[in-house]
Order: sequence, then C-alpha cells, then structure tokens
Amino acid sequence: MMWIDWNAHRFSGGALALDLANTVIFRQAPERAQDRFSNSVEVERFASAAASFRASEWGSVTFIAPQSQSGHLNLLELREAINRLFRVAVLEEGFKAQHFSDFLQLASTVIGSGKNGDGVILPPFARHRALSLSAGAVLSGLNLLDPSRLSRIKICPNCHWLYLDESRNRSRRWCDMAVCGNRAKAKRHYHRKGAEHGL
Ligand SMILES: [Zn+2]
Repeated sequence: MMWIDWNAHRFSGGALALDLANTVIFRQAPERAQDRFSNSVEVERFASAAASFRASEWGSVTFIAPQSQSGHLNLLELREAINRLFRVAVLEEGFKAQHFSDFLQLASTVIGSGKNGDGVILPPFARHRALSLSAGAVLSGLNLLDPSRLSRIKICPNCHWLYLDESRNRSRRWCDMAVCGNRAKAKRHYHRKGAEHGL
C-alpha cells in the first residue's frame, strides 16, 4: 500500500478550500483523473498535514476528518461544490448562481451541524483549536468570496489545480514553480529539440 506524500506541493492552493479541491488530480482529463481521497484514510492524513501547511491561513489548529461514511461523502460533495464554484468563476469571471447556491446550502449544513454554542470566525482571525475539515473548508471558501481574494484565484496551466496568487504583482504563473514551472520548461525544450530534428 502506497501512501500519498502530503507535502508542500500538494498544498500549493494557498487556502484550505482550494487544497481540498486539488485532491482530485487531472480534472481536465476525466480518463486520467484520480481522487486522492478514494481511500478515506488519506482524508485523515490530509487533515493532519493541512494543519501544518495551512498554518499561515489558520494559525494553530487541528482539522478533524469525517468519522463516518456519510461524513466522508458530505466532504466529497462539498469539495466538488467548491471546485465548481471557483473554477467556473475564474474561467467566466463571475459565479454561476446555481454553483453559488449549492455551496451556500452545503456551507449552511456543515456550519449548522457544529456544536451548539460554537463560535464561528473566518480565517485569518480564526481562533479555533479544533474544527471539522468540512467546516474549515467552508470558512476558507467563504473567505475567498471577497472580490479582492477571488480575483487572485488562478488555474495552473500545467496541472489545472486552483491556487491563490498572493504575490504582490500577481505574477505567479504556476501552482508550484518547482514542479509545474519546471515541467513546462522541460516540455518547451523538448518541443524545440523536436522541431530542430523535423519531428
Ligand atoms: Zn500546477
């Protein structure tokens, strides 16, 4: 059994909501697409890695992975709603009403299922010590609705992941320069060589 290495690259999204959406890889090519959460043990492992890689968004926090099959399915449904909402918003410069509504309904259910009396604070001012991974994704996603943040969401031209470009002049071209930037460079090199040899 090979475990996923939940390393910094897999948290290139820059916000928990986007990192969650990026747990399906090769979304642009359905025949190649792979769901990193097809084994629910990986959700646990993602949740604990997210606490450290998303510390800049959340501070010190523990994300609790769903403990039941229905909780797992709800998280996947939320993940797909987040992906649709933001991916289409980037491509079409605005939310689709249906996607927005789907997200808000799931968000309402997730937040409503929290313990009575729990406070709810959006990052970056979150002071939660522990919250469900779904609640974290919802709050992170709500935070991205702000136009100043929304306009910084991009789609990586190599791997099609969603990521938040927080660079000052919005110049980030890849989800991860070290991975996708280098792959694109290698590809350009290969094509140039190919052209020289009449391929
Ligand atoms: Zn990429």
